Amino acid sequence: MPDIQAPRGTQDILPEEQPWWDYVRTAAERLCREFRYEQIDTPAFEDVALFKRTVGGETDIVQKEMYVFEDRGGQELALRPEATAPVCRAYIEHGMHNQPQPVRLYSITPMFRYDRPQAGRYRQFHQFNVEAIGDESASVDAETIEILWRLYEELGLTGLTLNLNSIGDAECRPRYLEVLRDYYRDKLDRVCPDCRGRFEHNPLRLLDCKDARCQGVIAGAPALADYLCDACAQHFADVKAYMDALGIPYVENPRLVRGLDYYTRTVYEVQPLEEGGQSTVGGGGRYDGLIEMIGGRPTPGVGFATGIERIILNLKRQGMPLPDRSKLDVFVVCQSPAARVSAFKLASDVRRSGFSAVVGSADRSLKAQLRHADSLGASYAAILGERELAAGEVTLKRLNDGSQETVALDGLPQRLSGGR
Ligand code: AMP
Repeated sequence: MPDIQAPRGTQDILPEEQPWWDYVRTAAERLCREFRYEQIDTPAFEDVALFKRTVGGETDIVQKEMYVFEDRGGQELALRPEATAPVCRAYIEHGMHNQPQPVRLYSITPMFRYDRPQAGRYRQFHQFNVEAIGDESASVDAETIEILWRLYEELGLTGLTLNLNSIGDAECRPRYLEVLRDYYRDKLDRVCPDCRGRFEHNPLRLLDCKDARCQGVIAGAPALADYLCDACAQHFADVKAYMDALGIPYVENPRLVRGLDYYTRTVYEVQPLEEGGQSTVGGGGRYDGLIEMIGGRPTPGVGFATGIERIILNLKRQGMPLPDRSKLDVFVVCQSPAARVSAFKLASDVRRSGFSAVVGSADRSLKAQLRHADSLGASYAAILGERELAAGEVTLKRLNDGSQETVALDGLPQRLSGGR
């Protein structure tokens, strides 16, 4: 072991893991093209105020999990713990309200949270993140949910539950929070210490507590759905009607709230089978007040984030075979030091005609080079020894059945094209 290792909660994504990442990334990008979402990349760090103001000063993310540092110029910065606030900042900063609305954006990028590392929970992790900014229609909420659901479907993730709720807006939520506080007031001696704090600072999160002591109290709490104003109730009904039309199964979960302060109306989360709230694969919702919080004109928005590590973990858990690693077309076996330059040139010609090629080491035996070719999953070995060199030829061996033929050196690319 080296005496310096990867920081706790981070991981090296090794070449043998990359096929999983390709598999997920490719599906996500294909869907974004289908729905015409365009890629955006924002910086890995931002002014810390961006997250304090939007995610919320009372949230775990801001209080316990953000990587905050002062740069050499004395500016307080934070490594990005989530993508929505940065994307909204970019929306304002680049005048995207002048474009046709909603502006549809996505990113696939690392996030940083000082979380307690465990399976599927890291301090640097990657999210596929989708945002539709500038349209409050329920159809846009439904569109984002459809992308998330289609992603899991296309990847072959099974046993998922889509939980759906509406948490109202600035008009109806305060009224509900009063009702919720009234309900909790004489039960505070029965709930966990964290919930006593939530009662004061963030009462909606009372519903989200995982502590066993609090579950009975949560079960009896008044449901937010009963306190929605007419506009929010209609919006929620519309979202559900779109879901029904698409045949996407969901569970209406009146206890579902999301951890961050900026959510309004629709919230949703996808849970894998037999797992608690700690293992959510993806979640999102509407955030109609966020852009105003950071100085933009009132602009609605909706979106989701899904963790790539967690998707891969669940695919592996359900026994999905590893997607194919990228294959090699030709391994050029170099059987004599005199053939080195010709082998090198042959590989270069093969690549220029659109095939992949690797050259073996002339210092190693034929057998060792063929083993190497096999371990790279090569389709062909092109064997170049002194005899072949003298004749201007190469022996082309097909590795899956061992069949061999002789091909002119300069005819190999053509032979490969014909043999596809
Ligand atoms: P959140 O922004 O907390 O709703 O997270 C959205 C998604 O990101 C979750 O559903 C997870 O898939 C993933 N995620 C969040 N935190 C972590 C973490 N610490 N490690 C790995 N994935 C995470």
